[in-house]
Amino acid sequence: MKGSLIIISSPSGGGKGTLIRRLREDFEGLSYSVSHTTREIRKGEEDGVHYNFVSTERFEELIEAGEFLEYAEVHGNYYGTSKAFINKELEKGFDVLLEIDVQGAEWVRKRAPEAVGIFILPPSYAVLKERLSNRNTESETDLAVRLRNAADEVNQYKHFDFVIINDDLEKAVEDLKSVVRSGRLLRDRQTKAVRDILVSFDNAE
Ligand code: 5GP
Repeated sequence: MKGSLIIISSPSGGGKGTLIRRLREDFEGLSYSVSHTTREIRKGEEDGVHYNFVSTERFEELIEAGEFLEYAEVHGNYYGTSKAFINKELEKGFDVLLEIDVQGAEWVRKRAPEAVGIFILPPSYAVLKERLSNRNTESETDLAVRLRNAADEVNQYKHFDFVIINDDLEKAVEDLKSVVRSGRLLRDRQTKAVRDILVSFDNAE
């Protein structure tokens, strides 16, 4: 059975990274799309694990070569999702998590309308600001850019199938798991299993 695409978006600092890590600890059959980016590598990040870190020239070559399912400029850097990687993982039957911004999510929805979209919403602007500042990963300028962009980003929640409010972490993790679990129960994703069951009825004496 082919897997499905699961888009997860939130403003920077919304907590999707932590939620995705927790989800992957507990779920079989999930794959994570490692994006390409031109942003500078942060302390603690590993090339090929968190992102494929590339130069702007290389990123533009990949755009030209049609390698991306989607790409966008986010907070002043390029980010993109590799088409080949996604297709390979879907063919293996994995559900593929796309941790992408709201512009990328819009593109994926156009190209793969069956993708499940989940928006992670922080409980308030004040909490988002606090989480983003405490993370200490951005310069003052980058932090200001991310906070400024957050207001537009949260307004995009309406284009997603599910909204998870990331107030209590444990509850948000459970909510995310139940969305992924429900996606696997969709009728169209169970045709093979159902067919086998129905055949057993056809063959009954
Ligand atoms: P960060 O620099 O904090 O890792 O990511 C900044 C934003 O870029 C986040 O909203 C993240 O979800 C988004 N992002 C990461 N990878 C991709 C991608 O491949 N495509 C798009 N459109 N956005 C991405």
